[in-house]
Amino acid sequence: MFTPYYRAWLPAWRGDPYGTPRKLRLPEGATTKAPTAARQASLVPGGETAGTKLTRRWLLDGLAGYGKGHDALGEDATSRLSPYIHFGCVSPRALAVRAREKRGVAFVRQLCWRDFYAQLLWGQPQTVTDDLRPRGDRWVDDEEKLETWKEGRTGYPLVDAGMRQLRDEGWMHNRARLVVASFLVKHLGIDWREGARHFFDLLLDGDVAQNIGNWQWVAGTGVDTRPNRMFNPTAQLKRVDPAGTYVKRYVPELADVPALELAEPGLLTPDYPVPMVDHAEAVREFRKRRGN
Ligand SMILES: Cc1cc2nc3c(=O)[nH]c(=O)nc-3n(C[C@H](O)[C@H](O)[C@H](O)COP(=O)(O)OP(=O)(O)OC[C@H]3O[C@@H](n4cnc5c(N)ncnc54)[C@H](O)[C@@H]3O)c2cc1C
Repeated sequence: MFTPYYRAWLPAWRGDPYGTPRKLRLPEGATTKAPTAARQASLVPGGETAGTKLTRRWLLDGLAGYGKGHDALGEDATSRLSPYIHFGCVSPRALAVRAREKRGVAFVRQLCWRDFYAQLLWGQPQTVTDDLRPRGDRWVDDEEKLETWKEGRTGYPLVDAGMRQLRDEGWMHNRARLVVASFLVKHLGIDWREGARHFFDLLLDGDVAQNIGNWQWVAGTGVDTRPNRMFNPTAQLKRVDPAGTYVKRYVPELADVPALELAEPGLLTPDYPVPMVDHAEAVREFRKRRGN
């Protein structure tokens, strides 16, 4: 359980991380050649220099507003440091030390989630493929529905915006990740492993421990203490993107639809699909499947 872990984690470490090692021994067969793949213009620049610059800017301008603003999708008010942390360009420990000095409690808590999932995978390596807490799920095998979700054409604006952000940027806001993942697993009844695979293919921060831990949390087969919770994609839209800023950024077909109408699934414009599943019906089906 996360909360007791967090309570034990906070006082367990203090001070700066270890200094830079003078020498590194490479594993056999590894080389130091730079990758040759073409860089996509829309992707963020990689490396320690870029990571350090972003960290400095974040600690100065972003951190103070994180506690209140991190779920506001349209404002994009999270650090976007995850790819740098994943590739070792930014030390999560150094980041936590600096953020703690600046009283960034909510942000430090998120860094603790990262540690928690890393520990979970360390202790339970079988969870890469197996449910931590099996719920007797019988998954729906439907390639067409899975593709519709991947393409961001579900008819639920928040889900579609999230999936298209992933496709365009190789990154997705955490609140959108929660909603799209819950939609796949609980509205469509599709195996969380399918979703995790797609995320892993496209995410710049794609990380086995974080991806699996979070997908299992959402599926209710992992460490969530409320395994049968379902995110309602329209209620979420009203709460975290009331002006439709995020949705309109990634779903251009909806640019001219008034914000209030975005939260009423149906025929929003002829270019945009009707919802692929009815929310109330999906809730009933899910409860039946889980036997509650
Ligand atoms: C289904 C699903 C899959 C995910 N897959 C990944 C993944 O492959 N790699 C990954 O790094 N994160 C993953 N996350 C967690 C989270 O969405 C991202 O870490 C976060 O959105 C990264 O953006 P940020 O750096 O702006 O985060 P911020 O909000 O600025 O948070 C700072 C840091 O805290 C850590 N963090 C924040 N939220 C979480 C969380 N829920 N779990 C673990 N660590 C967290 C990250 O290292 C992040 O960079 C996933 C979440 C979900 C719901």
